[in-house]
Amino acid sequence: MKGGYRSRAGRPGWHAKTVSALRIDIRKLHREGYLSGSYNLTWRWGNGATLGVITSPKSITLNYRYRYRESEWQDVNQSVALNRTPCHYGKDRPWFVCPSCNKRVAILYIEKNPLCRKCSGLVYPSQSEDAIGRSWYRTRKIESKLAAGAETWNYYRPKGMRHRTYERLLAVRLAEEQYRDRAFVAQAWREFLESFTKCLS
Ligand SMILES: [Zn+2]
Repeated sequence: MKGGYRSRAGRPGWHAKTVSALRIDIRKLHREGYLSGSYNLTWRWGNGATLGVITSPKSITLNYRYRYRESEWQDVNQSVALNRTPCHYGKDRPWFVCPSCNKRVAILYIEKNPLCRKCSGLVYPSQSEDAIGRSWYRTRKIESKLAAGAETWNYYRPKGMRHRTYERLLAVRLAEEQYRDRAFVAQAWREFLESFTKCLS
């Protein structure tokens, strides 16, 4: 898979890729025959991040690193049970069992843990608001350094500040801004997908 999560900001199309990186659909695994035996699958994105999936007829195991703050990662290794319901012509249809609410779902969202849409919607907004709030706090601290004693920063390098220090502060400030954009866009997408799936069902 090309592109990915850490594409440069402003590059068209990265929003959609972020979303595709966030969810895993059991219908796709089933259609491609991966649930009839045991397979070791890996999705790889442009930045080298991977999602590992080990399949079997009764459960799958997800392996990934989840970034829940700007520079903090968590390794996730979670097994998800599968459940099957009969459908036409004696065939059956597989479902994920959401690790949190134990309900049958077709799609899991790759969060701090893999979760169904409902459970993910319950945990995401507050986490996201907290994360955005902390990012604003860090940004204000950087801007007060850039203001160098004045009340507000005038968007120029303060007298006496070394070029390298100034460049570094600008880069960190920009990274915080991009981080807030991603958190905001991810949340907006989640709400959009939720209303969209409601229309379909
Ligand atoms: Zn759930």
